[in-house]
Amino acid sequence: MTDRTSTTTANTGAPPARRPRILTGDRPTSDSFHLGNYVGTLANRVRLQDEYETFLLLADLHLLTTRTTNLEEIGHNIHGLVLDYLSVGIDPERTTIYLQSLVPEVMELTWIFMSLVSVPRAQRIPTLKEQVRDLKLQSASMALLAYPVLQAADILMVKGDLVPVGKDQLSHIELTREIARRFNDTFGPVFPEPEGLVGDVPTLPGTDGKAKMSKSLDNAIFLTDDARTVEEKVRSMYTDPNRIRADIPGRVEGNPVFIYHDAFNDDRAEVEDLKARYLQGKVGDVEVKRKLAAAINRFLDPIRARRAEFAQRKGLIDEIIQRGSDRARRECQRTLAETRQAMGLTYFRGAADVEVE
Ligand code: ATP
Ligand code: MG
Repeated sequence: MTDRTSTTTANTGAPPARRPRILTGDRPTSDSFHLGNYVGTLANRVRLQDEYETFLLLADLHLLTTRTTNLEEIGHNIHGLVLDYLSVGIDPERTTIYLQSLVPEVMELTWIFMSLVSVPRAQRIPTLKEQVRDLKLQSASMALLAYPVLQAADILMVKGDLVPVGKDQLSHIELTREIARRFNDTFGPVFPEPEGLVGDVPTLPGTDGKAKMSKSLDNAIFLTDDARTVEEKVRSMYTDPNRIRADIPGRVEGNPVFIYHDAFNDDRAEVEDLKARYLQGKVGDVEVKRKLAAAINRFLDPIRARRAEFAQRKGLIDEIIQRGSDRARRECQRTLAETRQAMGLTYFRGAADVEVE
């Protein structure tokens, strides 16, 4: 990762100093994040928000790629996700939180990028088949096929350097890098080649044992779940299917309950003790799960408390989104003007629709 601040000099004409940038985002498919979102990306965003200038995108246009019903809940979902951002420690003074559809210029950038991507290349993105399968779609829409291209435009419109995401999204970052490279080679150097950053748990499995916990798959523990709900969800969790009695030695590796223990239980000694006894057939699933639910509730308690406080502050979320979206839109307009200029798309309206500062 190049540190952009170190490349600037006092010479006239040198680019203004700026911190390297993060762009990452979420689809408002539910009104709260789940534990997978937390370990996959939220934790990294909180950790890096000082070091990087961070942009967080609420990807409502991306939501349309897999869903065109129940759209009336999107506003409510956006509100909830921003509350979650604040409760896990994202600071809106340091991080720009914005709504994708309030930056319509990103669609023009997407269209330009679409001309740089072949249909077979887009069809090779693994998430395309996975989404069609998991959501039982009859076939992919044009929008779903173009999903990673819109994501590339999101990242590149702010010239993002780093993209903290879950492992499921890495193939999209690869495409973003290809698009940046192809654009720069064809029209001149405008875009960085961003890198993905995967969290401590690249993909947290679902409570149903499916490979990925997902907002849309009904297999998630949400940051907003109350203590009882967490206990119930953990109690019904998938463990080692071969272990039909507590005295049979069990499998720890790849076992969702232990993946969760490793990720969320702050009592390391307890986790090691449970693992050792599980391997020997000396502990029942009931105890392992009871201790897991308690650990997750310990982890969620401070998040719940902060959420309740922020929820009291009327108008706070709308103001954060409006302010952040204005800021992100200016960034996008600036990048788009630069893009059009590099491509020679300067007839009539000129490249300088927007003053490039
Ligand atoms: P949906 O099912 O609606 O696609 P999602 O749970 O996959 O929802 P997204 O909004 O698509 O959530 O993704 C938000 C971020 O969380 C992305 O960076 C994604 O890679 C990450 N992420 C999602 N699920 C997991 C998971 N199970 N483990 C780790 N990271 C995850
Ligand atoms: Mg997803």
